[in-house]
This record gives sequence, C-alpha cells and structure tokens, in this order.
Amino acid sequence: MNLTPPSPTLMYALAIGSLVMFTYGFYIRVKIYGITGFINQFKYFSRNYIKFLRDVLLQGRVLNDPYIGISHFLIMYGFLILLFGKVILGFPFLFNLNLPLVLIFGSSYFQYLSLIMDISGILFIVGVCLALIRRVVIRPWKLETGMEDLLALVALLYLGLSGLLTESFKLIFSSLSSAWSPVGSIISLFLTSIPVNTAETLHILFWWSHVIAACIIIAAIPYSKLWHILAVPGNIAIQSDKPLGSITTPFLLSELLSNPEAMENIRFGVGNVWDLDWPRKFMVDSCTNCGRCDEVCPAVASKRALKPRMIIQKLKKQLITGDVETLTGSIISEDEVWSCTTCGKCMITCPAWISHVDFIVDLRRWLVGNSRLDKKKSDLLSNLAHSSNSLGMSQWDRQELAAKLNVKTIQENPNVEYLLWIGCLASYDSRAIKISESLIKILRTANISFTVLGAEETCCGDPARRLGEESRFQEIALNNIELFKKYSVRKILTLCPHCYNTFKNEYPKFGLLDIEVYHYSELIENLMRKGAIKIGKPIDTVVVLHDPCYLARYNNIYNQPRTILKHIPRLKVKEAGNRGKKTFCCGGGGANYWYEILEEKRISVVRLEELTDLNVEGVITECPFCLAMLEDAARIKGIDEKVSICDLTELISKSLDGV
Ligand code: SF4
Ligand code: SF4
Repeated sequence: MNLTPPSPTLMYALAIGSLVMFTYGFYIRVKIYGITGFINQFKYFSRNYIKFLRDVLLQGRVLNDPYIGISHFLIMYGFLILLFGKVILGFPFLFNLNLPLVLIFGSSYFQYLSLIMDISGILFIVGVCLALIRRVVIRPWKLETGMEDLLALVALLYLGLSGLLTESFKLIFSSLSSAWSPVGSIISLFLTSIPVNTAETLHILFWWSHVIAACIIIAAIPYSKLWHILAVPGNIAIQSDKPLGSITTPFLLSELLSNPEAMENIRFGVGNVWDLDWPRKFMVDSCTNCGRCDEVCPAVASKRALKPRMIIQKLKKQLITGDVETLTGSIISEDEVWSCTTCGKCMITCPAWISHVDFIVDLRRWLVGNSRLDKKKSDLLSNLAHSSNSLGMSQWDRQELAAKLNVKTIQENPNVEYLLWIGCLASYDSRAIKISESLIKILRTANISFTVLGAEETCCGDPARRLGEESRFQEIALNNIELFKKYSVRKILTLCPHCYNTFKNEYPKFGLLDIEVYHYSELIENLMRKGAIKIGKPIDTVVVLHDPCYLARYNNIYNQPRTILKHIPRLKVKEAGNRGKKTFCCGGGGANYWYEILEEKRISVVRLEELTDLNVEGVITECPFCLAMLEDAARIKGIDEKVSICDLTELISKSLDGV
C-alpha cells in the first residue's frame, strides 16, 4: 500500500523497537545458559541434518499426532511465508530480493507472491483455529493450557485475520486484480455494501493493527512460549550424537584413578538445573509443555508419581526464574525420580528431542551421591559390589550352571566364535535358566561354536548405571572389558537385551571396540535365513510378540523376531498397538525389577492387558526380565494358567523337537 507520511517512519520505528526488544530478550535468554564452546557444540549439526530435515522442516514427530501436527504445520509454514513476504515487500531497502525474484519468476512474480500469501494467510488462520479448538474445546488430558498459551494463539489469530481483512478492504477501493487474492476477494464480496471511504479508513485501521500485532509477536518471542520457534530447531541442531541407548557420562573413572585431584571438580548427579552443562540447559528450555511424553509414559499409565513433562518443566522453571534451590528430593520428589523405567518412549516421542532418561538418571545420581537410597536399592548395589551380580548369588553357581548345561568355559575352550553372555537372571533364576537351556539347544542345532565365562561372568553393569551408581558401573565395565581382552573375545552373543544394549551402546565409551555384539534374535534370524536352523514341527497356537524396550526401541531389533516367528508352521502371530520401536514397557527396566514403587496398577499388568485383549493363547518375548514381569502380571490377574508366557528361544526349541 502507499502510506502517506509519517506512516512509513512510524512503521519502521515500530519494527526497529520490536527488533530491539527481541534482541534484548534473546540476549537475556541465552545468557542464562552460560554458553561456552558454542562452535564446538555446533559441529554436531553436520551429523544432525537428517533429524533437522525430518523433524524440523518436515515436522516428522509433530505430525505423529495428525490433528495437532497439521495445525502446527499450517501455523509454522503460514507464519514463515507471511513473514518472508512482508519482509521483502515492507523492507525493500533491507532485503531487496525483488529484483532477483523478478529475474527468476518473470514479471508476474508480484502476482504469484500475492497469491501465495493470500492462501498462506487462510491456512495459517485454519491452523491457529484448530489449535484453539484443541485447547478450549477438545482439551486432551495430556495438555495443560494456561493464559500464556491462549494469549499466544489469540495474538496469532488476530495477526492472520487482520492481514486478510486489510487485503479485503483494499480490494474494495483499489484496482488490484482479485484473481491473485482469491481469499481476500471472497471476503470482500461480503463487504461490498461498505462505502469506499469507510473501506479506506478500515483498511488503514486493520493495516496498522496488523503491523502492531506482528511487532508485538516478534518482540515477545524470547519472553514467551514462542521461544520454542528458535529453541526446538536449535536443540535438534546441536544435540550430541550419542546413541539413544546410552546415557550421559559425567566423568571417566579411569581418568579419576590416574588423577585423584580431578575428583574435586566432579559433580555427582544433578541437584538443580545449574548442575547441567549449557546444551542441556538449552534442551530443557526447548520443552513446549506439549504433554506427548506423558501420554506414552508407562509410569503415567500406572499412575505413579512421575510425569516426565513435569520433570523437564520443573527444571525449566528453575532455569527461567534463576532459583538456586536443590530440586532433587524436594520439588522433584524421590518417588518421581525412581518411578521411571528408563524405557525411552518419551524420548522417541518428544518433538523437541529432549532426553528425559539422561535427566532422570542424573537426578538419581544426585540421590545416590547423597545416600538417599532405600534398603532394596542399597541391597542391589551391595550385591553388585560384593557378589558381582545383581541377585547377590555365588559366582560359583555360574560355573556349576555351565557344567550342568554341558558348556565348556572360555578357560577350557578359548578358540570359539562366540562368547555367550548369559546375564544375571538367566544364570540364577530357575525360570530364566530355561531360556539359557533353549538358546544353547538352538546354538548346538546350528553347530555354532560358543563358550561361556562361567564363574568369571559378572553383571554387565546396566542396573548400576540406571540406578545412578556411575562409579560402580564404570568399575564393572572396565573389569569386563579387561576380561574380554584377556580372552581375545571377538564376538559376544547376549541373551538379555539389557546386557546387549550395555555392551553395544555404553561400553564403547570405556574402550570396548572391535568386538561384535549380537542379541540371539539377530543370530537366529541370520541362521534361519542361511538354512542352518530348520524348523519343522508346527505349533498350532495364537501368540503376540512383546518387544523389549532395550531391543526394539533402543536398538531397532524388532523385524528379526517377527521373521523368526514366520518360520514356525501354523503359528498365528497377532500384533499389539504398542509394538516395534513404539513398544510398551514391562515395568522391569531402569533397575525397577529390584525395588517397589507406589502405583495404582502395575506397569506389567497394563502391558499384559493390552496383549491379552488380542485374545491370544501366548505371549512371546526376548528378555528374561520382560518374561518375569509379565508372568508376575499373569499371576496377579489370575490368567497364568490360561495364557502362556515364554521366551522366543523356548518357542523355537519346542518347534525343533522331533526335527
Ligand atoms: S519434554 Fe518433549 S514431549 Fe514432553 S512436554 Fe516437553 S516438548 Fe513435549
Ligand atoms: S523413560 Fe519411560 S518410564 Fe521413564 S519417563 Fe520416559 S516414558 Fe516414562
């Protein structure tokens, strides 16, 4: 539009004021992170570009919930297109893109731009309306709506509406072609009774209110929830590339042992937000309070004290207010911290890519460092310290198990292909030992050369790390790595997904390199494909597969067991809604197997109900802990006689009988 003086001056003054406010707010917000080594952290962007493309530009995770995904997509791209259009039209002396764009798109470029902005404007309004309806009318339980959320949406709605009305009034009195502003021209059809003079006045009024709304919104970004526009893409861009299945390493025990003075600078866990390094403060600040983590969390489903959203929000509140109180054990209760099973579902769901488990384990580390452990947790750590296994049993029992299973130990038979790492539960628990027997039978059928460590096998350290006892974990890891070196181990075959994840994703940081790690389902699937295992005996039953979190979610192993099951004649396999990477926890992870936590319904029962609602006769899993938890749930529900719960190896072994 042609503004008469002093309008352009006023508009530029408003825009500059808005930018000054934005810049100051940006500075204040970023200052609280205490950024050091920004360039060093930014190097991760070169490895995060796919994540950035998929989950920022294409809104991958946001679109997992189609309703709000579409709404957010329309708002985001509507806003960006309108901003781009307004900037190049309104500030030609700053961003004179008109000339190159005319050269590229020809003389009709302005019409195209008008058309794109017109359509973007209405789509933007639709997106904002959908978001408002969700917050005001639908009100999903996971979503907390405060005044700030509503104000932000109302401001955005006004921005869109005032833009459209400005255009519509203009079409009444100007000679512009309505073909390039179809939405504006449709609205103007309803306004034709308005006299031209009034239309001109209304046009100016709406134009100014539109400019003011835009300036307020831009200025408010660093001071409000709108900060996520910058924080979420920023957080995704600079995330470190550690595997999903590993957690943060606050110190290296090997370095501390060689330099004990360094101990003084070590923080044992996180007592409040100021104990976090700057990228993790920034991560906390990118939380949008969307509640998607709560929606998928098994602890929330079983009505435990934990809501992962609240853990992040409490840290965020402290970051913004500058409060320096200790959070852990007070504002964030101990029950909240211990309720997590470290299943990781929140992390793969969060659109901001927040690593909840890292924060929760850091809070646990603080509790461990301050001796805030009940008897069961202390017993677990004491078992690991004194018996080298999580159950407090004699190491010699492992040697006897090897003898009972007629497997030579690595000391007796060092030149074999695989070291079979049995794990604590399948070494000592009479039910889980049956899984070891089945696996060994399968390996023998396929002529696999393998051995075991016998009395030298210890815990892998997973429960110590997930419980927050980092020093104990690292001590175990370093000892095991030495052991593998001593026996020149080349391939490790694990029975338990927790051991698998620990060797695969945690140990490399401590020196386990050049050793291949397999879970049995990977090996068996491979052997079946090669024809080394031939299954003949049909099993006429209907089963459902329960994917363990530490296999499917953390390590993408979920197709292999399904391929294996397809080899069993007459077996019918049903699929649960929560399956594969999106599987639902059994309740045993994160060291939860060893302690009790207050809950309305056990997580294992919640999971078993989902599985048995499919009218199956059996539940198959690939983890001794999942098996123990689900069998326990079946007993609680009184269906242990009706539904058989077994390990995949047991099913294969049964099908091998008589072949
Ligand atoms: S942590 Fe992630 S999923 Fe949870 S509320 Fe925040 S942004 Fe949403
Ligand atoms: S890891 Fe699992 S149990 Fe823990 S907060 Fe996330 S979803 Fe909940």
